[in-house]
Amino acid sequence: MSKIVVLGGSFGGLTAAFELKRLLGKTADITLLSDMDKFVFIPSLPWLAMGWRKAEDITAPLKPMLERKGITFIHGEAKGIDADASKVITGTHEIHYDYLVISTGPHLAFEEVPGLGPYKGNTECIFTLDQAEMANKAWNRFLENPGAIITGAVQGVSCFGPAYEYAFETDAELRKRKIRNKAPIVFVTSEPYIGHFGIGGLRNSKRIMEDEFAKRDIKVITNTAVEEFVPGEARLKDGSKIPHKLAMFAPAMKGVPAVAHLGNPRGFIPVDDNMRHKKHRNIFTIGVAVAIAPLEQTVIPTGVPKTGFMTVKMAKAAAYSIAAEISGSPAPASYEMDVLCLMDMGNTASLMRAKPLLPPRQESALKEGIVYKWGKIAFEKYFLWKIKHGLTNLP
Ligand SMILES: Cc1cc2nc3c(=O)[nH]c(=O)nc-3n(C[C@H](O)[C@H](O)[C@H](O)COP(=O)(O)OP(=O)(O)OC[C@H]3O[C@@H](n4cnc5c(N)ncnc54)[C@H](O)[C@@H]3O)c2cc1C
Repeated sequence: MSKIVVLGGSFGGLTAAFELKRLLGKTADITLLSDMDKFVFIPSLPWLAMGWRKAEDITAPLKPMLERKGITFIHGEAKGIDADASKVITGTHEIHYDYLVISTGPHLAFEEVPGLGPYKGNTECIFTLDQAEMANKAWNRFLENPGAIITGAVQGVSCFGPAYEYAFETDAELRKRKIRNKAPIVFVTSEPYIGHFGIGGLRNSKRIMEDEFAKRDIKVITNTAVEEFVPGEARLKDGSKIPHKLAMFAPAMKGVPAVAHLGNPRGFIPVDDNMRHKKHRNIFTIGVAVAIAPLEQTVIPTGVPKTGFMTVKMAKAAAYSIAAEISGSPAPASYEMDVLCLMDMGNTASLMRAKPLLPPRQESALKEGIVYKWGKIAFEKYFLWKIKHGLTNLP
């Protein structure tokens, strides 16, 4: 019986594990190892930071979800991979695999900008459950005594969406509370222009986003790197200083230390069209852990986002390839990366579409409307229901 180990219990890891079980049934022994014991619907973390969701609304425990489907769950951290010996090394033991699927997401590189991040620094972040909970506390304190807000994305960021969402959501919430006049908002980003999103923009996304920020009276500073964050002040590389009461910044990402040695200098792992490691052919990598070269050289470094939608498709591509190889079937068609994303804008939302991911594109769009807000809420409920029931074969 083939032994398959999946690392990570989020969008990629769970989808891969469920799909492998569905395709291979009792012919494979599947184990999922994750250092978190629950699934977190990450796209709703900005809502949690605003107090619009609670942790229990957007999380689900992994163990019952997986064991119901006959998948072994180990709550633990991979410390390393011995790729030549096909072993995952944890703090206590070694797990042998015939196939390994890596979906360990990012290491958030707060250390790259002095003062960045909520642990040792002076800024909030909304990229993990505990960070979003801390950001919610900071938001509640801020509301008691509002002042200037600075938000955005530092140099090297690839996941820009949450910073946009936070800017629009804080604006919407402050207007609802009739205190927007007490809180000027500045959006600082490493993107060459607003609406670039690390993918060179989507049709007229630059114009739409410029209008949106102007309409909401949010000042935008693009093409900018941050020198450091000291308490109450952001110091930009161009010498300007921006005082504030609240700061929330997206960090750059790297691969997590346990798997970084399998990847490029930033620890992201290069794969072929079927998500297979170029050297270690029994290792597959999906989601944020995958290496994707930036599409263009920007003055301030930016990266290409790897969305949940892409991650789920990568997971299915990896599962189909492994299942085909084990059952001796022909290899499936390769996956061409594309983007479909709903971005919250507080009182409205937008739909982002890019196919393929990198230009020139057959299809691309950015459309704003309240219908996309309803779509985002419905998608959250649907995805949580689907993943809790292991129904990853549904669209
Ligand atoms: C705030 C925010 C909002 C977003 N909104 C959207 C959206 O609206 N739409 C969209 O499509 N995408 C969105 N994304 C992107 C989406 O969340 C990611 O693409 C997706 O989570 C990637 O899944 P993943 O499985 O690759 O990694 P992750 O979701 O990062 O999961 C990695 C998992 O691996 C585990 N892990 C890490 N290291 C180890 C280790 N050493 N040992 C064991 N386990 C380990 C972690 O605990 C975690 O469970 C958003 C991202 C953020 C941060």
